[in-house]
Amino acid sequence: MKVSSKEVWFVTGSQDLYGEDTLRQVAEDAKKMVEGLNQAGLPLEIVWKPTVRSSQEIYNVCVEANSNANCVGIITWMHTFSPAKMWIGGLKVLHKPLCHLHTQFNREIPWGEIDMDFMNLNQSAHGDREYGHIVSRMRKATKVVVGYWQDADVQAKIAVWMRVVNAWDDSRDMKIARFGDNMNNVAVTDGDKVEAELKLGYHVDYYPIGDLVAYVKNVTDQQVKEMLAVYDSTYNVTPNAQEGGKDRVSVVEAARQEVAMRRFFEERNIKAFTTNFDALHEMHQLPGLASQRLMADGYGFGGEGDWKTAALVRTMKIMALGLEGGTSFMEDYTYNMAPGNMAALQAHMLEVCPSVAQDTPRLDVFPLGIGGKADPARLLFDTAPGDGIASTIVDVGNRFRMIVNEVKVIDAKPMPKLPVANAFWIPQPNLQVGAEAWILAGGTHHTSFSKALTTEYIEDYAEIAGIELLYIDKDTTIRDFKQEMRVNEVYYLMNNFKY
Ligand code: MN
Repeated sequence: MKVSSKEVWFVTGSQDLYGEDTLRQVAEDAKKMVEGLNQAGLPLEIVWKPTVRSSQEIYNVCVEANSNANCVGIITWMHTFSPAKMWIGGLKVLHKPLCHLHTQFNREIPWGEIDMDFMNLNQSAHGDREYGHIVSRMRKATKVVVGYWQDADVQAKIAVWMRVVNAWDDSRDMKIARFGDNMNNVAVTDGDKVEAELKLGYHVDYYPIGDLVAYVKNVTDQQVKEMLAVYDSTYNVTPNAQEGGKDRVSVVEAARQEVAMRRFFEERNIKAFTTNFDALHEMHQLPGLASQRLMADGYGFGGEGDWKTAALVRTMKIMALGLEGGTSFMEDYTYNMAPGNMAALQAHMLEVCPSVAQDTPRLDVFPLGIGGKADPARLLFDTAPGDGIASTIVDVGNRFRMIVNEVKVIDAKPMPKLPVANAFWIPQPNLQVGAEAWILAGGTHHTSFSKALTTEYIEDYAEIAGIELLYIDKDTTIRDFKQEMRVNEVYYLMNNFKY
């Protein structure tokens, strides 16, 4: 059930005014809430912290949260009134993600029993607003979750936030390996890597492909044999790609590449990577199958040097750990513009993650058409119909802009002559408005696509990162979308350089 061994802290705010009995009750109730939430099967463990009653205690717990590597965020709740000037010092230094749970211990007003003792203890309705005021005044990013703490909708929102803060924590040391540079002359996949490290934690390193080739040459026949056994037992391998088939040599080479890449990444704690079909030198072929399978194991990937998308794929995969649906690198491939059936075919020349596959993938070998290398092995499959999101981060010169488009995956027709894994989707609200908005926003042709996640995850992530987010969904109109971009232009002129 847990997505990692990391934890979030539960901090209850109060003050000394109420006396020992009330404060004892505050602590007991908060402990019961933490226990209840932990029993609800949330993605991270919640750790109860002693009630904070003064500026010093608030400051201390914030400093502790910052320095504790296991703490990836804090949930705050005011059981009683906690005068919010006391929170200024702590919130000023806090740099772990913040969630404000606006709830109360009791579900219903005890109509027959309610008295001033009850009101002395149960003050969330006004206490949380006083606290919320200072968070807002300090322009501190927070997720506010309102409702009864035992209810599924409240717990679902906390669960989303937890998955996001766990992914945010994962990206504090997001090391991205680029084999080769960005593809020559391509604009949208490039960007300010220094700013990306400041804002998002991405550390982007360049590796000459020769460094990887050295690893490929060191792979043993036994390692290749073991990798091939995994392929043969996991996928539907076409006869030509099976042992003895004419294309088996390409599968053997793919296995060699995969063993080498896994070792290369593990030794360097690399979490995402990019390749470039223009920079292969002594590589036998573009590592398609390896990229697909590494993505399925949680690595981020971006084609043609697209390090921003590689990082986002990684982050979205960490958010989605254990959820149904899959997450993959995608590219807007080509359109169907038939009246009444306008949709976008999604694919890439090789690298689509099998986590989105509808059925057992087929392993086959075909020529690539560009790059002038040997025919690469790849997994072929379709994506099951259903709702998903496509997301990207672009560098628009003075800031990073994140864009999320809700999409509806539908069935494609068979394409017997196009050997790529794919998805076929209608960007919401429809292809014309969806693509128009995306293009106006400067969105990439590459995306991180997920059927496991919803827009809420991206919203929480952008909030924590402090970057712009534009939504394209069923309610999008071009007129409003343009206006939002104009307003954001002014907002980020004033607010961009905060870290
Ligand atoms: Mn591409």
